[in-house]
Amino acid sequence: MPDVNLTQLDTTPVVLLIDDSQFVHRLLDARLRSESISLIGEHDGKVGLERAIEEGPALILLDLDMPVMDGFETLRALKDEPRTRDIPVIVLSGMNSSQDKVAAFDLGAVDFVTKPFELTELRARVRSSLKMSALLQMLSQKAQIDGLSGLFNRTYFDERLKGEYDRAIRHGHPMSIAMIDLDHFKSINDTYGHPAGDAVIAGVAQVILHELRSSDIACRYGGEEFVLIMPETNPEQAYNLCQRIRERCETITWARHPTRSVTLSAGVVGADDGSSINCTPSAWVEMADRNLYSAKQAGRNTVKASHINGSAVQITQSKAG
Ligand code: GH3
Ligand code: MG
Ligand code: MG
Repeated sequence: MPDVNLTQLDTTPVVLLIDDSQFVHRLLDARLRSESISLIGEHDGKVGLERAIEEGPALILLDLDMPVMDGFETLRALKDEPRTRDIPVIVLSGMNSSQDKVAAFDLGAVDFVTKPFELTELRARVRSSLKMSALLQMLSQKAQIDGLSGLFNRTYFDERLKGEYDRAIRHGHPMSIAMIDLDHFKSINDTYGHPAGDAVIAGVAQVILHELRSSDIACRYGGEEFVLIMPETNPEQAYNLCQRIRERCETITWARHPTRSVTLSAGVVGADDGSSINCTPSAWVEMADRNLYSAKQAGRNTVKASHINGSAVQITQSKAG
């Protein structure tokens, strides 16, 4: 699997404790020390929610009885927020009524532990929740990954584009996307065979991953087409990035056909300021595709980029290799 910034599975899982009692923080800090986890803590629900968004912990231990924002309210907020929705939550509570337990499970808690803790039991529950969450994460990542290239797949792209797009608009940040298509790829398959074509797709994916920043998202859009989502990146930067990918690609010597190089073309579209965007994500994909088409028309091995301001689009940069 290529070096995709996807998983926390092979790092120490972070567990976030949200409890207003300093005593509980000290107790769990001491008693969970032997576990291979990194325990972080907050003392109220509101700050706990912000910390959960920031850190993306593998598990949350949540007290119910807290001032300001109680555990039920915090749990509801965690489950309403897309960035924390899938984090398992174990509720810790001195309240022991069936009604509270049912309410916590209904709100999405995975487990309920009553205070005072039986610490061996708590440790076992923490371990089992972490194991379950790692397995679920692995399954959901598998469903998002394209097997040949190791990049994200089309389904993931559609979902993620919408999220990044909304975020760029909300914060007025720059954002760009790029459609990349290999040139005359059919003739690689026809001349050297399908496995050689597959090796090219996998190799170009590696080049793309190598050039991207960890915050960029690379997907295989279909056959020999790739699409990149580049948050916090203006069209000029995205254009430069695609030029680097284009240049690296044409210099690769392919093991199965050392005398035949492979080139690619790209269409970029982006905005300097997300708040000025007033078209849909799918309109962006169409514009990027149009630029790609025009790069092909211009002779291939070419990148074309446009700048969006409101609904106006200008071709800003175009350069053939
Ligand atoms: P252009 O420069 O206009 O893009 O020409 P092209 O030959 O790259 O474009 P075309 O769309 O005609 O051909 C794409 C080829 O990609 C056809 C298809 O057989 C091949 N292809 C699609 N998916 C795969 C795959 O997973 N593996 C391999 N080896 N080939 C694939
Ligand atoms: Mg194509
Ligand atoms: Mg092609």
